[in-house]
Amino acid sequence: MVGPMPRDPFLLTGRGRLLRPEPYDGPLPWAILVRGGRIAWLGPWSEAPDVESVTDVAEALVTPGLVNAHTHPAFLGDRSDEAAARLAGTPYDGGGILRTVAATRAASDEELRAVIEERLRAELAAGTTTVECKSGYGLSTAEELRALRLIGEAAEAVPIRVVRTFLGAHAVPSEAVSMDDYAAVVADEMLPAVAAAGAAEFCDVFCDRGFFSLDATERILTAAAARGLGSRMHADQLTRSGGAELAVRLDALSADHLEQLDAAGVAALAGSSTVATLLPGPAVVMRGGLPPARALLDAGATVALASDANAGTFGGWGAMPLVIGLGAAVLGMSVQEAVAAATTGGASALGLAGRKGTLEIGADADIVAWDAEHEGAFALRLGAVSPIQVFALG
Ligand SMILES: [Zn+2]
Repeated sequence: MVGPMPRDPFLLTGRGRLLRPEPYDGPLPWAILVRGGRIAWLGPWSEAPDVESVTDVAEALVTPGLVNAHTHPAFLGDRSDEAAARLAGTPYDGGGILRTVAATRAASDEELRAVIEERLRAELAAGTTTVECKSGYGLSTAEELRALRLIGEAAEAVPIRVVRTFLGAHAVPSEAVSMDDYAAVVADEMLPAVAAAGAAEFCDVFCDRGFFSLDATERILTAAAARGLGSRMHADQLTRSGGAELAVRLDALSADHLEQLDAAGVAALAGSSTVATLLPGPAVVMRGGLPPARALLDAGATVALASDANAGTFGGWGAMPLVIGLGAAVLGMSVQEAVAAATTGGASALGLAGRKGTLEIGADADIVAWDAEHEGAFALRLGAVSPIQVFALG
């Protein structure tokens, strides 16, 4: 399914539904010319340029490669027992992250690299061609650098575009004196080291009760911006802390989670360039409330859907078809809106608009043909939709 790209240039053609992500409504069959790894032309087959190499996907639904703008792949250990306990009524206190930190610190480079690579392959096999990968289970300068390095090494083995995010502010490690003390270490020691190593494009902070305060978040993300890293935030997930407004004020590319967002937060995001990245997987598993997807869309916010695959609150790798299904079935989005949020929305959240998650001219030739005839299958089958072919530039 995920084979080598056909000989460049090539034509991809089909008679089925084509989402760019807005539906193609021209004469059928349609055709896409790929040249130099980019989409060079798209239109009716009858007008297609003459090219020797042709791939026909018949009636299959075709979309841009999916963009998963929020994952945490750099960990070892299993916490499914914790999930079961939480669903049986034990309150989630977040302490579980430190359990994953211990297991991850104890892992060898080879073990950690191997699980990351396995997770990237699962993403690609399920139609994701661009994935954001966070560190955040190391929580020391050396361990965070190691996680980011191993994400980079794993990415070289898989034809998927990986965007790395430094998440040293994921939790406060047990050896830290206090949250503020640790936040200072993140801002003053870890960030300079990460930036000097060129190990990440973004910095993220888990801004919430029991994790990092608004002040600590601002301190860390201001330091990140000064070092040339873009900002993103875990915001308004467990409590309505005002994380969304801080993300807007700091010009963060994305505010993620937003389960507790209210009307004021919706308005703040809608009036900004910060993308609202919604994560229905953990929202459903955590039973902590659902983000106001409909209100955000109606207000004109840019919305992305991502999986938040991680160690403790949602463990699905290769789950983006399910995430699209949940976006529609649970968050009140139309299926077309959900597909757009998982393609162009995700690309916007990663600063890759026009390049990834779209079949417009000039975009990378990341294209997926699905075992479905219509995008409604993502909802109808609740994610049990698989690629029949993935074209991924990496
Ligand atoms: Zn997360």
